[in-house]
Amino acid sequence: MMFWVVVCKESGMTEKSDVTEAFGKSGCGIPDSGPALEAMAKITSAALNVPCVFVSVAVGDNSVQAAAGFSEAETKTCRRLVLPELVRAGIVQAGDVKTAKRKGVQNIASALKSVRALLMAPVADEHGETIGVIAAFDTKPRRFSGSDRSALADSAVTVRGLADLQRAAVLHQAAEAELKDAMEALPDGFVLYDNNDRLVHCNQRYREIYKESGDLRVPGVKFSDLIRAGVERGQYADAVGNEEEWIAQRIHDHRNPGKPLEQQLPGDRWLRIQERRTTTGGLVGFRIDITELKRQERELSRLAWTDSLTGVLNRHRFLELAETQLAHAQRHFRDVSLLMLDLDNFKSINDCHGHAAGDHVLRSICKCWQSQLRGHDLIGRLGGEEFCVLLPDTKGGDALVVAERLRKTTEQQTLDYEGKPIRVSVSVGTAMYETIADTITSVIKRADQCLYTAKSAGRNRVEANIGGNRKKTTA
Ligand code: GH3
Ligand code: MG
Ligand code: MG
Repeated sequence: MMFWVVVCKESGMTEKSDVTEAFGKSGCGIPDSGPALEAMAKITSAALNVPCVFVSVAVGDNSVQAAAGFSEAETKTCRRLVLPELVRAGIVQAGDVKTAKRKGVQNIASALKSVRALLMAPVADEHGETIGVIAAFDTKPRRFSGSDRSALADSAVTVRGLADLQRAAVLHQAAEAELKDAMEALPDGFVLYDNNDRLVHCNQRYREIYKESGDLRVPGVKFSDLIRAGVERGQYADAVGNEEEWIAQRIHDHRNPGKPLEQQLPGDRWLRIQERRTTTGGLVGFRIDITELKRQERELSRLAWTDSLTGVLNRHRFLELAETQLAHAQRHFRDVSLLMLDLDNFKSINDCHGHAAGDHVLRSICKCWQSQLRGHDLIGRLGGEEFCVLLPDTKGGDALVVAERLRKTTEQQTLDYEGKPIRVSVSVGTAMYETIADTITSVIKRADQCLYTAKSAGRNRVEANIGGNRKKTTA
């Protein structure tokens, strides 16, 4: 029940209904057309030289009204009796209401005692539909002239313009409120920048995602300032250590939106950023939380790359990474060494203690070897109880030391399986990257030859191939 009334101040009072109050107090940005309508009533009163004017026009479902020269009670009467229906067929005039034939006019005359003459014109919308009425009243009989009628018709056109403006403002506000509701309902972060790269709007989700700098994300702030402040507050995990470069890259990407970007936030949170230009040169952006997706992706990679029994790299991944390391060493003239390890008489462990015990041994030995290696050394299971270790930046002599350390720790382990002690030993063959013609296959082949020699020579031994010179150590 939206209803808006403005009663002319000349009547000695101002009365505003709930809608006007609501608009005025909420500061919702809708222009108040009441004063303009009131001014229109006064101008019409002067133009036609009449003491009283009443205007009523519909704005959507509401009715906006104003009066000049009437008392409060008279204005109320006008609201009740001066209705758009009376002028649906066109201008209505009565030089003396006492002799008027129309029922509507007679009703007005009997309710407004001081009125003796009236001239009423329709306010029409763009389709010609009557949406309101403007009425001029005189206190004595009077013959309204053609210019009176034309002045009243002009006032009616102006009233319609005011109503159109008011309606457009109401529609605009409703559309804006709906758009904001829709943005807030989005499960993802949403942000809009104007063509000067200033933030226009963002939803609450967006502020929550960037919680370290959510308070800065307010309308008017420049994107570049936001990024810089965010970096200072540690908002972007992937900026740490190369801040200036990161800022420059982020601003570049933002100015040239296209492919989705991934962004790491503190606490290993991950976002997908999707940005698009708007038709007015602004930019609309979405932030989608892909932390869980990333975690699953990493888990899948881990599963695809690792040997499920021992947790070391599987054959495929080991060879892939080893090849990359070898290419790197070739390019940068670095050393790389490789160890081939094969557990001794492993079949007998399975035979004596069962297959599950054999599995336990494989798991335990791998853990033990990993603890003896550096973080960037690679260890992979090539098959069965055969393993390969790649040692970057390691010369043959140093590789021999590592191989001997692995052999020794293996022999020193007493592995407990269901209360039974199990001892195991390993034979190792080593080789190093030597010539530009070397491939991972050729280096493995040389290490494998040494391994074969170690096995033949009695097992639990390291056999090394260093620059073509055979050298061995024994247990
Ligand atoms: P050598 O000293 O000559 O290497 O003798 P070996 O017994 O270790 O060598 P062989 O190749 O004859 O046997 C390897 C054994 O390793 C046979 C196979 O059952 C066992 N084996 C391979 N993969 C696994 C595994 O995943 N779990 C267990 N428990 N045993 C495995
Ligand atoms: Mg073996
Ligand atoms: Mg074997």
